[in-house]
Amino acid sequence: MKIKKFTFNPVSVNAYLLWDETKEAVLIDPACFYPAEELELSRFIENEGLKIVHILNTHGHFDHLMGNDFATTKWNLKVKIHSGDAFMAGQARQDAVFFGITMKNPASTSEPLSEGDLIRFGNSSLRVIHVPGHSPGSVAFYENGDKLLVVGDILFEGSVGRTDLPGGSHELLITGIKEKLLTLDDEVVVYPGHGGHTTIGWEKRTNPYLK
Ligand SMILES: [Zn+2]
Ligand SMILES: [Zn+2]
Repeated sequence: MKIKKFTFNPVSVNAYLLWDETKEAVLIDPACFYPAEELELSRFIENEGLKIVHILNTHGHFDHLMGNDFATTKWNLKVKIHSGDAFMAGQARQDAVFFGITMKNPASTSEPLSEGDLIRFGNSSLRVIHVPGHSPGSVAFYENGDKLLVVGDILFEGSVGRTDLPGGSHELLITGIKEKLLTLDDEVVVYPGHGGHTTIGWEKRTNPYLK
């Protein structure tokens, strides 16, 4: 399994591309905003000879939806997002205004993700793990073969997602992380929606929010 991180848009969101030996790939939170970012993403995919078969959102906050229109049009796919956050596409433009960013609402058509779903590509799959609290429909995507976990804004190196936004719950977030993520193997590498990567073992030992 290969993974490539891009950091895009004025809010510095990590977009992730995962692919295996078949060159089939999934794109998680495309997030590109500026034309140069769209070009960087599409050029990388072309140069590697990848075929995008799924476009996924970790959750519905506007900064993670920024590349949706570009990516769904470019690769002719619908975005997949948990039903708890699907409505947020309709308010992205308004939410972005509070950050001084002008964007249009991304397409509101999407396909629903649910706990336990398997997202298949090539010889690989990602399992959907629903961890509400940062937003009602936040999910993580787990790849069991190479033990990769893409978590959006659920968990960060040394921190957890903010829970002061509408629909947030600190208690749900911490319970969900402890029960569904910290129960994975220590060596699982965690790829958050902002900042650098970490591991389940390191967060279990050192993250002050998870004591
Ligand atoms: Zn978020
Ligand atoms: Zn975010």
